[in-house]
This record gives sequence, C-alpha cells and structure tokens, in this order.
Amino acid sequence: MFRVGTGFDVHAFEPGNKIYLCGVEIPFDKSLAGHSDADVALHALTDAILGALALGDIGLHFPDTDEKWKKADSVIFLNWSIKRAKQRNFRLSNIDLTIICEKPKINSFREQLIGNLSKICSLESDKINVKATTTERLGFTGREEGIASICSVLLYETS
Ligand code: MG
Repeated sequence: MFRVGTGFDVHAFEPGNKIYLCGVEIPFDKSLAGHSDADVALHALTDAILGALALGDIGLHFPDTDEKWKKADSVIFLNWSIKRAKQRNFRLSNIDLTIICEKPKINSFREQLIGNLSKICSLESDKINVKATTTERLGFTGREEGIASICSVLLYETS
C-alpha cells in the first residue's frame, strides 16, 4: 500500500539576518516572517506527509493563533507528522522538495539541507531530493519578497 502527498507553502521576507530551511539556520540579509520559525521547506514537507495520511494540514494541528507555537522549531511539526505515519505503519519512501526563490542561492548548502532532512526523517540521503528554482524574476519570489516551497512524498505501508 502506497500513499502520495503534496505540500505547498510560502513565507514573506522581513528584516533580519537568518532564515531556516529544512531545519538548517542559514545566514542571510533578511528573515522569513511567520508565527513559528517560518521554515517554508519543512512546512511544505510536513503538509505533504499530512496529505498522504489524509490528516488535513499543518495549520489544523498547529494553529498560528496558538501562543504555544510562537517561534516554534518546525522540526516539531515534521516529527509529529512522521510519528502519525509510524502509528499507522507508514514509512517515508522518498521526498522530493523544491525551494523557489531568487536568493539565497540554494546550491551552496543543498547537501547540508539533505543531510539534515536525512537525520530528522531517518531516511537515506539518496531518497531525498532538494531542488531549487527561480521564477525568472516574475511574481513575488521574482521580486524577492519571499520564498515558496513545494514538496511531494511517497509513503509505504510496512505491514
Ligand atoms: Mg508555513
């Protein structure tokens, strides 16, 4: 038995000096605005897993109106979704994640992002793909107003 899921997320830039992507702190000349740590990549991945499990979305389980999740480490959300999958005997088969922005350039720390996802998800790095693309200067990502991320996952049943 297989289950497929997709996730999409966007966060706007705000003044700051670092962003979080895939749980990795990246020095940058802006930050991402959000109730949590605004890790747009982990939010898309978490939503993809919740999608595969037919468990709604991240906002349903971790509402941004709840003070508990203010500045929260998004790894908490991802770990929770993986735990829910395990409870139903599902494991991650692979992750295909795309980060959409003009800057920062993802290539220079791609391996670090994959390494961290591999650690959090207990999944071999050859089953994790992190892609980066721009929108050719079009739209909000093209104007460097924020970062978008889209993710697909496949889950397989272990029993
Ligand atoms: Mg988000």
